[in-house]
Amino acid sequence: MIGTFEAKIPAGPLAQKWRNHRDHSRLVGPNNRRKLEIIVVGSGLAGGSAAATLGELGYRVKCFCFQDSPRRAHSIAAQGGINAAKNYQNDGDSVYRLFHDTIKGGDFRSREANVYRLAEISNIIIDQCVAQGVPFAREYGGLLANRSFGGAQVSRTFYARGQTGQQLLLGCYQARAAKSLPTRCECSRRRRCSIW
Ligand SMILES: Cc1cc2nc3c(=O)[nH]c(=O)nc-3n(C[C@H](O)[C@H](O)[C@H](O)COP(=O)(O)OP(=O)(O)OC[C@H]3O[C@@H](n4cnc5c(N)ncnc54)[C@H](O)[C@@H]3O)c2cc1C
Repeated sequence: MIGTFEAKIPAGPLAQKWRNHRDHSRLVGPNNRRKLEIIVVGSGLAGGSAAATLGELGYRVKCFCFQDSPRRAHSIAAQGGINAAKNYQNDGDSVYRLFHDTIKGGDFRSREANVYRLAEISNIIIDQCVAQGVPFAREYGGLLANRSFGGAQVSRTFYARGQTGQQLLLGCYQARAAKSLPTRCECSRRRRCSIW
């Protein structure tokens, strides 16, 4: 029997699905957040940054991984850089173009609504990473540098030499450690992760 994975993508026009969902979700009051314990499985860039952000918001977070250290997630392989539609180079980039290139780059197999949301928030992801201390490459004047990557017609890739994934991972773990957030990382083999 072939099962289908229900991604629970909200209804509505493509560009508004996740924004509408977010706008209509019930909020949890700041005082109630510490009563909720959230388990995050995976400490790569997806799980690690989600855990850091939820911890910063005040939730009690437990983040699990199966590597000896949470910083050994496969995201460390993402060496080329991270894309965002900031259009710093004024070469015609936009959220839609980033969405389109990402769908095409994924051989049209990605979930469109999720990719649109990724393109939409790509700019603030870079801002968040900078705030976490990720040492992105910069121009001589101090502005963040960009390069063209993966066959794109525009320069939208933010990078940290050839170690972007590693630096992004370090950034999100640093963010949790530096603020003593109520986030704990445990190996699923019950060996405590060394950096925590
Ligand atoms: C060689 C390579 C180069 C890439 N280059 C780029 C690039 O330049 N730019 C870019 O944007 N993207 C790049 N990518 C894609 C990018 O690296 C991935 O899309 C992204 O890192 C995925 O992050 P993730 O957090 O979802 O997964 P991962 O980093 O793989 O994290 C998954 C986590 O889940 C945990 N886990 C899994 N199963 C369990 C379990 N049962 N119990 C507990 N924990 C579990 C693992 O321990 C791990 O911590 C590249 C990918 C590869 C392979």
